[in-house]
Amino acid sequence: TLAVECIAAPDAALVPRVPGLADELFRSDGTMTKQEVRAATVAKLMPMRGALLWDIGTGCGSVAIEWMRAARYARAVGIEPRADRRAMAAENALALGTPRLEVVEGEAPAALDGLDPPDAVFIGGGLSDEVFAAAWDALRPLGRLVANAVTLESEAELIRLHKAHGGQLVKLQIHRAEPIGDMTGWRPSMPVTQWSLVK
Ligand code: SAH
Repeated sequence: TLAVECIAAPDAALVPRVPGLADELFRSDGTMTKQEVRAATVAKLMPMRGALLWDIGTGCGSVAIEWMRAARYARAVGIEPRADRRAMAAENALALGTPRLEVVEGEAPAALDGLDPPDAVFIGGGLSDEVFAAAWDALRPLGRLVANAVTLESEAELIRLHKAHGGQLVKLQIHRAEPIGDMTGWRPSMPVTQWSLVK
């Protein structure tokens, strides 16, 4: 018989190419897209070899980084107005093996001017008619657009856009089991409304 023994290092972590990675692998300020929602989001974006993602409101870069890890030569541009979050995105990209993540300062739609046309666009922040129109216009044939909303106001915007343009509207909510005294209860996270469509 063959015995194989594996002794893990104390801080060992599995870092697969398939999204979503554990939240703890990213440095963030709490506004990050969480593991299960991130996995569902990247799935809808459909990473492909060499494809380019615009990650509008990249925050700590989690979606762009997972996109780049999921397919060879995948490229991503993250747009983020906040310097502290851009710094986290750059740091996370370096730590997770996607140092070529390009992080752009500014706000959509203005900051989108002059970027290479994308194969996929994720709108995680700054959603408006103008941002949607600019992204949709720039998307290449068969391009994917995914927008996530947490607030009622941005959800209302997604419902309007879905009515006008079609696509899929889904609501995702994750509950995590957490201790309640000696017992365990479901701790709900905020529901995320997700709109996606293919050009
Ligand atoms: N997917 C991100 C979540 C970021 S939260 C992550 O996993 O970290 C949304 C982000 O959108 C915020 O960081 C906010 O600064 C940014 N944002 C808001 N309006 C924007 C706009 N018009 N253009 C680009 N980014 C914007």
